[in-house]
Amino acid sequence: MRDFLPEEAQRMRHVENTSREIARLFGYGEIITPVIESYELLAAKSSDEIRQRMFAFNDLGGRKMALRPEFTASIARLVATKMMRKPKPSRLFCLGSLYRYDEPQFGRYREFWQIDYELIGSNKPEADAEILAITYNLMERLGIRNFYFKIGHIGILRGILSQEKVAEDQQSGIMQLLDKKRWDEALTAIQELGVSQECIATVRTVLETRGKDARKVLRDAKINVEKYESAVAAVEDLQEILELVRSSVGLEPLVEAGFARGLEYYTGMIFEVYVPEMEIALGGGGRYDKLIELFGGEPAPAVGVAQGTDRLVLAMEKQGIAAEASKKKWVTVIPVGAELRAKAFELSAMLRKAEIPAEVDVMGRTVSKALSDANKRGFTHAVIVGPEELKEGKVVLRNMKEREQRIVTIDRLTKEI
Ligand code: AMP
Repeated sequence: MRDFLPEEAQRMRHVENTSREIARLFGYGEIITPVIESYELLAAKSSDEIRQRMFAFNDLGGRKMALRPEFTASIARLVATKMMRKPKPSRLFCLGSLYRYDEPQFGRYREFWQIDYELIGSNKPEADAEILAITYNLMERLGIRNFYFKIGHIGILRGILSQEKVAEDQQSGIMQLLDKKRWDEALTAIQELGVSQECIATVRTVLETRGKDARKVLRDAKINVEKYESAVAAVEDLQEILELVRSSVGLEPLVEAGFARGLEYYTGMIFEVYVPEMEIALGGGGRYDKLIELFGGEPAPAVGVAQGTDRLVLAMEKQGIAAEASKKKWVTVIPVGAELRAKAFELSAMLRKAEIPAEVDVMGRTVSKALSDANKRGFTHAVIVGPEELKEGKVVLRNMKEREQRIVTIDRLTKEI
């Protein structure tokens, strides 16, 4: 877990503020859920890996609790218990910190931040397309370049395995191997379940069916899985989704028919976003149509995305993207002597009222010391409040970059700056 110094915190907040702006534009309402939830709720339908990495503890009431390792369970609980009567669909947005006992390394922390968008109540491809478009828009608005989407549909592999009577939890184990790119082990595991030779051959081909020409990849995938009815339906669903995002934002993703994500609750389209400079995903998401039911709600299909805030910041740093235009104006107000402190406070308040960031020198330094400090710290202007000028309602305004100063009347100070 890390500390964030002001510049680092500013970068995180810039990403969060941008994501909030996207939420507003797409009509997503922000929700805030607790950092601590019941262990049972969080563990119910996540993945073995995440379950084992939860920060779990007993509270003073003897209940088993945990720090949330992801948002989805909390959102599903909230929707199932508090939002069932609301008109459909619900568009929800949330952000905050999550906790997983991962091995700390580049872009992987034990406390990390996510930005989440969830669209609940629709099982139509346009809902999936909207979540992809939101993700695309966030990347664009942050100024991230060359990002690409990896996309697949969990229904392709699950459809094949279900028709071969492989139980769901066994399927989940195989999905986790695939998520870790342990393809050979996954194929061996499938073989050991006693499926048909045709199934092995089909799965092997599915895992090789990938590429940038989405239309071709999906045509090939459909021919390969033609014996497996629900796998065919999955390919068709993905075809429709991709047609929609192609026409809305021009998304041309890398399609992988055998793409799997570790989380167990996915039921449909799944995706991740990358930049060439980093091997780890900046964000990921997909469709989860059964989860809300599992938490006691009525059946409510849903699709969502979780962006890693920390990783978005890392990508921006790698690409040299500034978080925010550097402070345009930044003023230090220096009183010449203790008796002018009150006046310095008054002037700084006046500047802030005019939206100009201003700091009063609080170190009691001499003017020359205060100016040399102002230089080092990058102030754009210094206002020197001296007794002689003040008698005439004036102060000294110094432009730190130009290294020039002049006397201005206080009522013109804001304008001059
Ligand atoms: P997941 O909930 O595992 O699908 O992760 C969604 C996104 O959260 C990932 O693409 C990452 O950007 C981010 N993420 C997940 N785990 C971590 C972690 N340990 N440290 C930093 N970011 C993470």
